[in-house]
Amino acid sequence: MAVAERSAVGRMRRWRRRQSPWPLLSQPRGLVVLIGAVVCGALLLAVGAGSLTPIRGAELATFAALVACAGLCVEAMRRLGKPSGLTRDLLGAWWLPTVLMLPPLYSLLIPVPVYLLLQFRIRRAVVHRRVFNAASVGVAGFAASALFHGVVAGDWSDGLSLPLEATEAAVSSARGAVLALACCAVFTVLNNLAVAAAVSLSATGAAWRKMLFDREALIVDGVELCAGITAAIVTGLSPLLLAVVLPPVLLLQRSLLFEQLQTAARTDPKTGLLNAATWEAEAGAEIVQARRAGRSAAVLIVDIDHFKAVNDTYGHLFGDHVLLGVATTLTGQLRAGDVVGRFGGEEFVVLLPGADTAEACRIAERLRLRVGRMEMKADGTKVAITVSLGLAVLSVHGEDLVGLLAAADLALYRAKGAGRDRVCLPVVARPAIPVQLGGEPDSDREAMPSATGVTAPESGERD
Ligand code: GH3
Ligand code: MG
Ligand code: MG
Repeated sequence: MAVAERSAVGRMRRWRRRQSPWPLLSQPRGLVVLIGAVVCGALLLAVGAGSLTPIRGAELATFAALVACAGLCVEAMRRLGKPSGLTRDLLGAWWLPTVLMLPPLYSLLIPVPVYLLLQFRIRRAVVHRRVFNAASVGVAGFAASALFHGVVAGDWSDGLSLPLEATEAAVSSARGAVLALACCAVFTVLNNLAVAAAVSLSATGAAWRKMLFDREALIVDGVELCAGITAAIVTGLSPLLLAVVLPPVLLLQRSLLFEQLQTAARTDPKTGLLNAATWEAEAGAEIVQARRAGRSAAVLIVDIDHFKAVNDTYGHLFGDHVLLGVATTLTGQLRAGDVVGRFGGEEFVVLLPGADTAEACRIAERLRLRVGRMEMKADGTKVAITVSLGLAVLSVHGEDLVGLLAAADLALYRAKGAGRDRVCLPVVARPAIPVQLGGEPDSDREAMPSATGVTAPESGERD
């Protein structure tokens, strides 16, 4: 498809997205199918289980107590502030007693009031996202609960309406306790899988693996499981005793959210890299240390080439996908001690502690090549992404972070002027030899051979 045609299609899609009163319809087809399947599944199960489950007063009272506890947790979140995006809370502490202590129907019902509270008391999120999350908690809870009650009762038809006392007795036996743990794990795995599938199918393709399966996420899942099983045991004794479990759960949730708020304040939400202010603070501290210890350090500025045209042609969502891809590629190529950040727009910054000019050039060139090899596809068509890099080395091109950034920016300016997709060094006072390490000069620009055998870029303006 011609670029102009593509551009028109992209503009049309963006316009439709802005106009649509149903943001779900502008999502990728796979995501729409997944959301539809989970929500319809939840509704069908609710109708089926509703017709099979007898309503008992004690169970209703327990359900109300668990909803009240979850509601208080939501109110506590509201006071502290819940970071946006894919964040973790401890609401599972109230899903799990519902899974274990009440008939499966209640696991389908409990997310409804809680997600309504989240929507109206915390943040008005996109409706389909809230509905999907509630449905996925409901379906995962129903599956785990039906499994637990079915195995405990040994009869799947009775399993849907096992009375509370029978469940209490089952949980207090060793076999029941192991089974309860296994069913809670089933709930957590099913719910996480549904969220991971939705995130990976979404247009932004956020870093779901890190959000769900890194060490921290697994620790949170473990804590949630322990809190949920404790709440289930206490619920068995008396729903009134939930008042004893609530304060520690609130405290745990508070520390969890506080940590996430701190991380959110330090990072750029689109790429997960450090934001500009945090990068400057961390890189500045590294440079002061390097100067004191007489060590070397280098700063790179990485700028995506013709990014505006990428946005204009394929849409902003695809642009965001490219930003995430570049950020992931950069991080994957760097060491743990290197400091990477998003400086703003389509510009990234890297501090390489200990790198001298030769090493910094080698790393910068590797980054350029790796980004150039990224597999970026829009509507099945491969989109080539390139970056230009400017680099500056401590004590050679600048004496502090401000000086290094200014020098690296000048070098980037030269890389752009020389045709992009290349690495450039700034001109040092003497000898004036800016170094171009890679890429082809624009055919309409003349590259000057230099004394060192590498080409020196012209000093034209960045276009
Ligand atoms: P050059 O090769 O000279 O760097 O050209 P360029 O098009 O990359 O640079 P320019 O400064 O003209 O355009 C930068 C574009 O980056 C414009 C802006 O819309 C886009 N942009 C900035 N932040 C974001 C973002 O978060 N997401 C997306 N999709 N685009 C962004
Ligand atoms: Mg750019
Ligand atoms: Mg730029």
